[in-house]
Amino acid sequence: GKMVYYFGKTRTDGDASMKMIIGGKGANLADMTSIGLPVPAGFTITTECCGAYNKAGGKFPKGMMDEVHAAVKTLEKESGKKFGDSKDPLLVSVRSGAAVSMPGMMNTILNLGLNDESVAGLANATGNERFAYDAYRRLINMYGDVVMEVHHEYFEEAFSKIKTKYGAKDDNDVPTAGLIELVNAYKQVYKKYTKNDFPQDPIEQLALAIEAVFKSWNADKAISYRRIEGITGLAGTAVNVQSMVFGNMGDDSGTGVAFTRNPSNGDNKFYGEFLVNAQGEDVVAGIRTPQPVAEMPKWKCDADKTIGKKVHTELMAIKDKLEKHYKDVQDIEFTIERGKLYMLQTRNGKRTGMAAVKIACDMVKEKLIDEKTAVMRIPAGDLTQLLLPSFDPAAKKKASALTIGLPASPGAAFGKLAFSADEAVERAHSGEKVILVRKETSPEDVDGMHSAAGILTSTGGMTSHAAVVARGWGKCCVAGAGAIHIDEKGKKITVGGKTYGVKDVLSIDGTTGEVFAGEMPTVSPKMSGDFATVMGWADKHRKLGVRTNADSPEDAKRAREFGAEGIGLCRTEHMFFEGERILPMREMILAETKSAREAALKKLLPFQRKDFEGIFKAMAGLPVTVRLLDPPLHEFVPHDAKSQGELSKATGIPVKDIAARVSQLHEANPMLGHRGCRLSITYPEILVMQVTAITEAAINCVNKKIDAKAEIMIPLVGTVKELSILRELAEETIASVIEAKKFKGKLDILIGTMIEIPRAALTADEIAEHADFFSFGTNDLTQMTFGYSRDDVNTFLPDYIGQEILTKDPFQSIDVSGVGQLVATAVEKGQSVNKKIKLGICGEHGGDPASIQFCHNVGLNYVSCSPFRVPIARLAAAQAAL
Ligand code: ADP
Ligand code: MG
Ligand code: MG
Repeated sequence: GKMVYYFGKTRTDGDASMKMIIGGKGANLADMTSIGLPVPAGFTITTECCGAYNKAGGKFPKGMMDEVHAAVKTLEKESGKKFGDSKDPLLVSVRSGAAVSMPGMMNTILNLGLNDESVAGLANATGNERFAYDAYRRLINMYGDVVMEVHHEYFEEAFSKIKTKYGAKDDNDVPTAGLIELVNAYKQVYKKYTKNDFPQDPIEQLALAIEAVFKSWNADKAISYRRIEGITGLAGTAVNVQSMVFGNMGDDSGTGVAFTRNPSNGDNKFYGEFLVNAQGEDVVAGIRTPQPVAEMPKWKCDADKTIGKKVHTELMAIKDKLEKHYKDVQDIEFTIERGKLYMLQTRNGKRTGMAAVKIACDMVKEKLIDEKTAVMRIPAGDLTQLLLPSFDPAAKKKASALTIGLPASPGAAFGKLAFSADEAVERAHSGEKVILVRKETSPEDVDGMHSAAGILTSTGGMTSHAAVVARGWGKCCVAGAGAIHIDEKGKKITVGGKTYGVKDVLSIDGTTGEVFAGEMPTVSPKMSGDFATVMGWADKHRKLGVRTNADSPEDAKRAREFGAEGIGLCRTEHMFFEGERILPMREMILAETKSAREAALKKLLPFQRKDFEGIFKAMAGLPVTVRLLDPPLHEFVPHDAKSQGELSKATGIPVKDIAARVSQLHEANPMLGHRGCRLSITYPEILVMQVTAITEAAINCVNKKIDAKAEIMIPLVGTVKELSILRELAEETIASVIEAKKFKGKLDILIGTMIEIPRAALTADEIAEHADFFSFGTNDLTQMTFGYSRDDVNTFLPDYIGQEILTKDPFQSIDVSGVGQLVATAVEKGQSVNKKIKLGICGEHGGDPASIQFCHNVGLNYVSCSPFRVPIARLAAAQAAL
């Protein structure tokens, strides 16, 4: 197929729909060209070429370079310039760009096409010798660094020497003679480390640069980024070859980056930064501190006092055009060459969850998009950011900030200081909360940034690497806190005369940019304004109910505020650990006879009843699914000699008897062992106590006019007999409680089961005869379907994902083709015998947007997830339905 897509005056081959083939950058360059924006002409080599190159072990696909030559010819004809020309040479940039944006993950080469001859040509054509040699030295440096892997530092050393020689403080202070010397010095560095001369043939330069971009697809940092972001299934990166425009031609030129709206809080304010007389990534790299675009109108130069005003007006017009065209916030890169504005990139802007919600609501008001688009547009998972706590305003008032940086990515984070990415990863793994402190971050740091609770940098702006990446993840980040002096080697920072090290805690507020010493208390967020609007839209469109997993009245209340329509899973085991309860629980487990067990259970009953009353009250009017005791008993007994000694003292049971019982409870595979309904088969009195507590609690509530809707859920059923026996026992127990309490009111207690053993799914038609509901316990179902232990899966899962044996963690996102098939089978079989059966899911997957889509498709009635994920599930359910 076609391997090269041209964009320019002659013709434009690609369009916005072709991201998979020509990458996001290439597709949008073509698109911007088509709608008449000023884009330097060029061409894009397809992602498939990159895939083919890497697959073939580093060989260009046949015919690719021929198409490249043809495109270069068109470019030459269009511009009237020639590659390598000694009078007015054509220069190009070589830029990567995959289908999914991977900011800063791959390298760009600028000014390609310069050599000893064409540098003179460039000087001649522009009348600016200094500029020409500056461009040339940048090329040798970038080319050496990116293509030949010559360490950037060697070039820096050479530059420092020249700067010292000419007494120059800034790069821009070095005179022309110095830059000519620098070019020679760079060529020597190049030769020393590559054993070759810097290539003088522009086509050879181009071919090697294309190769370097292809190779960068498999660089460690690119692989890490894709792993963290869960990006799979892409062929490779496209390569964009584009005529150069120069932001470094003097004080009538410049370069900048911008968002058409504020990506941090969503305000409809153009939001960008620019640098006069600068090229390429100078803005993002944080070498010089850029100016806000809002100040651009003040920009003047000798030749034109109104240059800033003109460019700014033009930029604003382009902004409007882009938003109208893409109907979304754009993240743009632009360059001004001698007063003329060029667009170098546009893409949908990454934004925080907060900004996503505000922008979606604003755009509906502006009639740019409709309600459904707005619902579809907000990444459901990003809502977490709106639900996260922020620092307590009262506590903030009392504290004074050490310093204020840029509010680069909202949120509140605190932790001990870590000074390198590796250190952050390591300490976070061992359970510490750390704040990663760096001068600036680079793509090598992504693992550390991901592990840290928050990120703090001392240089770089709102569009610096740290800021962009943190916002993408919704991770709290304060950037450019210039007052902080970082001593990386000494592992400490100084700010305002105070020093903080690895053991000190700082709190950073990514919403305001403030940095505080110590741990600042946090408060819960408010669910109002735009957030409520979006939730309203979501509720209108979704078909799935959303319940929550909660085992305390507090969690239940919070989930209800978040919009939960019931409890889909109330685990009862934690209720046995709290305070004085663990002792009778242990007595029950240690008991040798049924009557001793019953005596212990009798002590537990009032606790359970009270817990259930609290939960029923918090969820009044809404269903509460209570799961009977599930974990193996050994989880409740002490395993070390000291605790066994204490238990002996408390119960009067000899230590050796306790130790014997504990070792008797030991199982080789406890998760496949004596747990779930198997406990109630062996010890029916446990079920009787729990059902009694549930029924009494429900009766007490009804007597107080509280509408309790209890559902009893029997876990780990694998055969219909287990359920029929236990259901009968539960019904008898309910009946006897009603009789004992002489209760005359209405009590509608449903009895159902979890479907979490593959056999249960396969025999769901038998099981459904005895169940009022099924709740898919997809954690265990995944564990038993794959045969992967949930608790140990991380020993090999990273390899499985790395080798693409699995595309994602099946415990996070449901495995549709395997586990999903069992769910679908159970749904179908269950409904075939019991039309009214209620169907839900209560595994971790209930809060995962992709799994929610599956639940919708398979026709479940509801999903159940942790309280903080309830809004996410509401939105994801709407997205599934639209
Ligand atoms: P990234 O994907 O890392 O943002 P880009 O390919 O966008 O890399 O290139 C980085 C920067 O290089 C751009 O933002 C722009 O400033 C500069 N650049 C790239 N191509 C050109 C060009 N043809 N003319 C001028 N500057 C360019
Ligand atoms: Mg870019
Ligand atoms: Mg389970």
